[in-house]
Amino acid sequence: MTRFEDIKAFAFDIDGVFTDGLVLAMPDGDLLRQFNSKDCFAVRTAVDNGFPCAIITGGVSLSLVHRAHSLGIGDEHLYMLSKDKAEDLLHFCRRVGVDPAQVAFVGDDIPDIPAMELAGLGVCPADAVAEVRSAADWVSEFNGGRGCIRDLVERVLKPQDRWRFDPKNPWKGSHPAAITQYAQHTGKNV
Ligand SMILES: [Mg+2]
Repeated sequence: MTRFEDIKAFAFDIDGVFTDGLVLAMPDGDLLRQFNSKDCFAVRTAVDNGFPCAIITGGVSLSLVHRAHSLGIGDEHLYMLSKDKAEDLLHFCRRVGVDPAQVAFVGDDIPDIPAMELAGLGVCPADAVAEVRSAADWVSEFNGGRGCIRDLVERVLKPQDRWRFDPKNPWKGSHPAAITQYAQHTGKNV
């Protein structure tokens, strides 16, 4: 197990990690998910402080793409419809030039286990399935969508003195189009 202070990059599953695992099935087939803003703030802070971050999920949704972008995770680090999470994690590691041993991967269900084992720090939320809890190097005391990501990111960034924020460049956790509409509507320079 790699120590928190030696982690250089993160990769996350979505359902059950960023969320509580529940999805709202819409009539058009899309699935709506609820994200925890505190977890998302932590990921944005990690990105802003130079930690490459990836999302590796079996799911797919345009709203997920927008959410990833708002976290500072570009398309090049977004792996949707993933069939082999370990292979995608390896691809991400090669792309950013970080050894898998220096990556923390967070997952909650059986398809995540190979990526957790490949990563130097395999993490899961408290309510991950039993097989994942057994495979994890570290189990957060917080559930998916309830702070497990915040917990991990703070433990990694703080000892590296990289839990830092730029007050002049606050995180805007909104879709860019919404920011543009707001600016146009109010005349504010945001
Ligand atoms: Mg999951």
